[in-house]
This record gives sequence, structure tokens and C-alpha cells, in this order.
Amino acid sequence: MRVLMAFMHRPINLETLADFDGFQVHAFCDECRHCSTLDLPGLARRLGGDCPLDRMKRALRCGVCGSRKVSISIGGSPAVQQALNE
Ligand SMILES: [Zn+2]
Repeated sequence: MRVLMAFMHRPINLETLADFDGFQVHAFCDECRHCSTLDLPGLARRLGGDCPLDRMKRALRCGVCGSRKVSISIGGSPAVQQALNE
């Protein structure tokens, strides 16, 4: 969880992730394997910027099959990954 270590000094919520330019959160449906990239600014407007990740995850629903069994993974652009690994 090296990526998350960068957030240790700040609470991890939608605002933190949206502020971190270049970060992307991907959502995977456990039922139909549909994958999409989350619209963090849009979610922050909808759920509030202080919404913690576990609450955001519970609010997600697959856009294809409607399942709420959604997993998320946090990743960055190659530039972000490189900066974190230096
Ligand atoms: Zn699905």
C-alpha cells in the first residue's frame, strides 16, 4: 500500500483524492466485471468532499448490471507512480 502512505498525514476522503492531481480510482463490478474510472469531483459534489472511502464504496453501483458488489482500486498516472517511487 505504498500509494496510500502518501496520504498518511491527511484523512483519505473524496476531497483528498480529487486534490491529488493525476490520481484515478477504478471501480470493478464483482458480478459482471465491468470496470470504470470514477468521476472523483462529481462524487465529491454528490456525497460531500469529506466522504470517507468506505462510505463512497457503499454508494457505488455498477452502471451495467446494477450490482452493489463493487471493488475499488486506487492508482495514479505513470507520472504520479514515478514520483511516489522516487
Ligand atoms: Zn456489473
